[in-house]
Amino acid sequence: MKKNIETECVHSAKIKYELRDVSPPIHLSSTFYFKSAQEGGELFDGKKNGYIYTRISNPTIKLLEETIKNLEKGEKALCFASGMGAISALILGVLKQGEKVIFSEPLYGGTHALFKRLKEKGFFEFKGIKASEFEEKLKKEIDKNTKLIYIETPANPTLDIIDIEEVAKIAKEKGIFLAVDNTFATPYHQNPLELGSDFVIHSMTKYLGGHTDLIGGALIGKKEILEEIDKEERAHIGAVLSPFNAWLVLRGIKTLAVRMKAHSENARTLANFLNEHPKVEKVFYPGLENFKGHKVAKKQMRNGFSGMLSFIHKNGKKGAMKFIDSLKLCVKAVSLGAVETLVEHPASMTHSTLSEEELIKAGIHPGLIRISVGIENIEDIIRDIERALSKS
Ligand SMILES: *Cc1c(COP(=O)(O)O)cnc(C)c1O
Repeated sequence: MKKNIETECVHSAKIKYELRDVSPPIHLSSTFYFKSAQEGGELFDGKKNGYIYTRISNPTIKLLEETIKNLEKGEKALCFASGMGAISALILGVLKQGEKVIFSEPLYGGTHALFKRLKEKGFFEFKGIKASEFEEKLKKEIDKNTKLIYIETPANPTLDIIDIEEVAKIAKEKGIFLAVDNTFATPYHQNPLELGSDFVIHSMTKYLGGHTDLIGGALIGKKEILEEIDKEERAHIGAVLSPFNAWLVLRGIKTLAVRMKAHSENARTLANFLNEHPKVEKVFYPGLENFKGHKVAKKQMRNGFSGMLSFIHKNGKKGAMKFIDSLKLCVKAVSLGAVETLVEHPASMTHSTLSEEELIKAGIHPGLIRISVGIENIEDIIRDIERALSKS
């Protein structure tokens, strides 16, 4: 039966259990016994006996993988202990030594640090292109060693928008893979696989979990290649999600659509407020009509533009620090996609692994403040932010 996204979120994780649970059980077992011949099993035949060991496979994790596969409209999904675990498995699974990844800048700080490390070790090549000029510069950077294009849209923390369809077309022409980190948009707002991408990445720690109580990641894409990554990189590098965290994400997903609706409505209202405020130099939010990526965002996103925004404080880094420190309701913390409004300073917090030069190249201004707008009453959020702005 065809389901709309709100229904999919609530009903995707259904399995017929003998005990008829409506909420799925948590299978915490690390190991599963082999059925004897009398029970219809075959001695030492893992395939016939089903689940063997939780690092290889587990029913609760499997149920979450089915759910995410449905939400992202992929052929297969794999879950990991973290978003970084998913990204590592993708890079190690797809690339051979010396092959190259072209990525958009800025990127999530951890992803950027991983790429830098793998490059310094001499394993692979990585080449960054500024997200704001990605589509026009991409073709020139693709050479015979290029295997993967890796992008974030909306990007972290500048909210730059990249045209997924256009990049996917170039990737297909050149016979290389495209991976999109869809953490900021979530499947409520955007489905990159439907726009031609080969892989989707999620940090489930953020909106999919939604309640600041777990770390988890996912990789979604074509069956054949994900089966290989499942057997090799996922099982043997071992960044395996815990069954309990899988269950927490399953629970989080049930309310994903209603949360995203609240996040995106609140973010739109806050973006409009900041856009008019004298202490604000510039607002980055894909839903603003004067934002550079607005047209493309409107084309490839739906139901709004998610709950992430950032802005440059008129008084630069000093103003930004003072502002964040003056907040009373909003929480001064990294991470995002929480029900609470989270505020941070990218240059000194999430993106502090970047050098000053790299920060400038990635377009991360010292006065930039990132806000993950929560689902509190927007008037309360604005009152807190207005007060903090007046003090900075
Ligand atoms: C948080 C995040 C990651 C990394 O995910 P973890 O779950 O923290 O490992 C990757 N990409 C983006 C966009 C993120 O926000």
